[in-house]
Amino acid sequence: MQILKGAPVAAAIRDEIKKELEGCETKPCLAIVRVGEKQEDLSYERSALKRMSGVGIETKLFVFPADISMDDFSAEFAAINDDPTIDGILLFRPLPAQLNESQIVESIAPEKDVDGISSAALGKLFSGDKHAFAPCTAQAVMEIIHFYGIEPQGKRAVVLGRSLVVGKPLSMLLLNENATVTICHSRTASLPEVCREADILVTAIGKAKWVDERFVSEKTIVIDVGINVDENGMLCGDVNFGQIEDKVFMATPVPGGVGAVTTAVLAKHVLEAAKGRRALNSKGGKNGLSAD
Ligand code: NAP
Repeated sequence: MQILKGAPVAAAIRDEIKKELEGCETKPCLAIVRVGEKQEDLSYERSALKRMSGVGIETKLFVFPADISMDDFSAEFAAINDDPTIDGILLFRPLPAQLNESQIVESIAPEKDVDGISSAALGKLFSGDKHAFAPCTAQAVMEIIHFYGIEPQGKRAVVLGRSLVVGKPLSMLLLNENATVTICHSRTASLPEVCREADILVTAIGKAKWVDERFVSEKTIVIDVGINVDENGMLCGDVNFGQIEDKVFMATPVPGGVGAVTTAVLAKHVLEAAKGRRALNSKGGKNGLSAD
């Protein structure tokens, strides 16, 4: 079995970004918006800050107290949205209950929605627009598929999970590349049998080591999106890797698979947003980022 590691995929994306930004005076800028101090937000934030600075993308961090009112947060968010120096916005969710999350999400300027969370971004993606920003995790799966030379066209893809963050957008990305896609969820009957038919099996259910040898065959390419903690407190995916590793064609590990690629995709989206917003190639510089 071939192990599909995320690190080389992320490194290739980062190298490409660094090359594009070489010699540019004006750097793309990502706003990171956090409400409260949740551990998972803080950990993703640390990794995003490190990755952005590593490729030459600026960041502005906006942190608000967990009890901020909707009026105050709306006003602050509108100012971030309108700030011409900001190219992309990463908003940590879920927001606290007193904030109307869908109203905030729908207010994100489409050209700054680098994590593809608004209906406008998802609508573009679902209508097959190649310039849509897909949610970074869904796009990270596609980057792995492309990097390792896997051709989705004509393949049977089964996506386990139907969330708007991973399962549904990923299904559209695979469909846009001419895979034959089946979306499964908690009410799917005969799940192991359906999954066993897959050439590409993507798991995004959030259940530690839940997918076992019954779900795979020797032709399966397994892409595990899950990030879970097992009974020993160790990070693990949705797939019981030990059970499937000798029985499949290819598989991503957890940790070290999809999760390693997500922030590289975020950086790529911020660069694309900056290029789109600043009318590139019009004013000097290799890609227009030298002048506003
Ligand atoms: P979610 O919103 O909780 O959705 C889970 C989906 O899995 C739902 O569609 C649910 O079906 C389905 N499901 C749950 N248990 C199932 C079962 N036993 N059999 C079949 N389907 C089942 O989760 P999510 O946000 O999509 O995240 C999924 C996983 O990906 C989590 O482990 C999360 O931590 C991870 N994740 C990783 C990254 C990354 O960068 N690698 C980013 C985001 C998320 P119903 O719709 O029927 O309830």
